Amino acid sequence: MDSVVWLKDVGKENLSLVGGKGASLGEMINIGVPVPGGFAVTAQAFRDFINRAGIAKKIFAALDVDVNQESELHKAEITAKKLIMEAKVPEDIERAIKSRYDELCQQEGKQVFVAVRSSATAEDLPDASFAGQQETYLNMRGAEEVFNAVRKCWASLYGARAIFYRVEQGFEHEKVNLSAIVQKMVDSEKSGVMFSSQPSTGEPLVVIEGAWGLGESVVSGSVSPDNFVVDRKTKKILSKYIATKETMIQRDPKTQKTVTIKVPAKKRDAVVLTDKEALQLADYAEILEKHYGIPQDIEWGVEKGKIYILQSRPITTIVNAKKAEASSFEASGKLILTGLGAAPGVATGIVRLISSGRDLDKVKPGDIMVTKMTMPDMVPGMKRAGAIVTDEGGMACHAAIVSRELGCPAVVGTKKATSTLKDGMEITVDGGKGTVYEGRVALAAPAKPASAASGGGVVYTKPITATEIKVNVSEPDRAEAAAATMADGVGLLRIEHMILGLGKTPNWYIKNGKSEEYIDELAKGIKVVADAFFPRPVWVRTLDAPTDEFRAMEGGENEPHEHNPMLGWRGIRRDLTELDHFRLELRAFKKLHDMGLTNVGIMLPMVQHVREFQKAKEIMFQEDLDLEKIDVGIMVETPGAALTIEDFIEDGIDFISFGTNDLTQYTLAVDRNNENVAGLYSELHPAILKLIEYVVERCNEAGVKTSICGQAGSYPEMAKRLVEIGITSISANIDAVATVRETVARSEKILTLRALRNRE
Ligand code: PEP
Ligand code: MG
Repeated sequence: MDSVVWLKDVGKENLSLVGGKGASLGEMINIGVPVPGGFAVTAQAFRDFINRAGIAKKIFAALDVDVNQESELHKAEITAKKLIMEAKVPEDIERAIKSRYDELCQQEGKQVFVAVRSSATAEDLPDASFAGQQETYLNMRGAEEVFNAVRKCWASLYGARAIFYRVEQGFEHEKVNLSAIVQKMVDSEKSGVMFSSQPSTGEPLVVIEGAWGLGESVVSGSVSPDNFVVDRKTKKILSKYIATKETMIQRDPKTQKTVTIKVPAKKRDAVVLTDKEALQLADYAEILEKHYGIPQDIEWGVEKGKIYILQSRPITTIVNAKKAEASSFEASGKLILTGLGAAPGVATGIVRLISSGRDLDKVKPGDIMVTKMTMPDMVPGMKRAGAIVTDEGGMACHAAIVSRELGCPAVVGTKKATSTLKDGMEITVDGGKGTVYEGRVALAAPAKPASAASGGGVVYTKPITATEIKVNVSEPDRAEAAAATMADGVGLLRIEHMILGLGKTPNWYIKNGKSEEYIDELAKGIKVVADAFFPRPVWVRTLDAPTDEFRAMEGGENEPHEHNPMLGWRGIRRDLTELDHFRLELRAFKKLHDMGLTNVGIMLPMVQHVREFQKAKEIMFQEDLDLEKIDVGIMVETPGAALTIEDFIEDGIDFISFGTNDLTQYTLAVDRNNENVAGLYSELHPAILKLIEYVVERCNEAGVKTSICGQAGSYPEMAKRLVEIGITSISANIDAVATVRETVARSEKILTLRALRNRE
């Protein structure tokens, strides 16, 4: 049997040959959907390789470990991957891969860039999904590079996550093979996602989201995309929402790496899709839904004016949404308006018609905000509103995304809310069904999904975890992306970046009589994040910039030259010797609290003795901060603070957060910025884990919240350990929140199961 097959020659009956991904791509090509061309290295070729190279038995023996033991799992991964990477691939298989790639290049008339993707398949259950377990390699070029990428995909079948997943799901390793899909890269000038049916009601409306550049920005949610809604029956565009698209991802022509750049000014507010393209996309969505028989979630890209469909998979939420709808009672009141149910929930309140961010004061808590379309400057009002109703928009428009994130019922795209509804009238909104009733109507709220949001295309239900999952933020303009992760709060807001962005040191402001200006700048930056997360907590860290970082700024000429700035005048120790500055920070916090942003907490960095905490609190009292209402905590990033944690508990800290970046360097005597000793730097060192365990135990006994905001909080292995240790929350980087949340959910379930088994 051939080791490679063209994608156009396979279809859904070839699952065991090319896995789910390969079969679906082949299937799409066969029904006339434009899919980038390519070939698959078959699952049998992989099997043939490990059998003929004599490594199959060794691999499976290596995988026979207790996957709940991190070190054993890690060893299994290393051994199996090494066998794959070092074994001789039979010449015929290697030749088949390389010559098929050369043929692809000949067809295109140039050396093409390809993506090499993994498509795993189980022998006895070929349609089992192993999505996301194995690796993808983008932008590969040249036969040798492609061949190596195929080998790496094969090896990724034995990544720790994949091994663990198969054992958990009861798949035998011996029966799972991997097909590598080699597919032409699409260098999209614009791209996005679409739903072939409205994702919460299942209506025949195609919802398309698009932005400039490669698709990652829409899929990851890092950019607000344009939104089109197309009626599949009438083939008409029902609504268009043009977003401000700040950034885009593209391939750098020199380095061939993907880079994020600012969208040129003239394209920022320009519409991404022409009407013709939107309608063409909607046609493909319809073809795919009809073909598969269920609504699809589709990724698309446009290269040199040509549309490509990159992926299509079922939307799972519609089934759930329908179930939820069916469970709600029928309304008895008078139905006055219908639209798209964009965020579930039922609310009754008074209509407030809003035409711009300037009218927001009209919206009091619980009022129903009614507007043509919400804008980012309306978010504070949306937070107070009991529900939101708009004329325009679809499932992925600004109002829909923000409402879902806020958990605020919303009906969008009603076309005539602002003309039908009158200021001051009482209405009832059902955000699940997309209906609006006159007066107060008794409706049962549909069972709310755990929390659903469009994470930039994929409507996904986040697992609920007992351990809170938070997010780290440094730049106010990342607040939106951070909030879109649906994190339970901000576990670290670094203010250094805001201050460094001002170009002048805090002392410059003080010396030039501009202290008020400094307070305002600081409050303004923090407010963006506090607003985005309200009422979820945002722990703002007081200034922690080492002296060397200030030197280049205006006013930084007199910064002392220190031998080791990392061990020097930074964090709380500096603030307590420069009280003038510390007081300005505290005044900014007070200002925010006085504005109602009671979610802002204060976190003190680099603390090493309880005296520092006591002194800081004293200044807070002097500055009239209401410590009954404001959470104040410390970062545990020195062994000194960790080993004397009882003293801080006694003195009334509300929380601690592990700064493992520093805790590691100070515990192991390894400069975190020094590449010569980087090999010794490990947050999973037993000494660090011991310190963490000690602190968490003491804090748990006293009811003090514990968290982590160092980089290690974004590592699944660390997250798993922390759950076992009993931490209250984990704060991860924006891009790691979803993975950490899943790891935590799984770890909690494992612990629960273990506890149950032990009870039996
Ligand atoms: C840490 O030390 O882990 C931390 C979060 O602080 P920074 O990286 O800013 O020093
Ligand atoms: Mg630190």
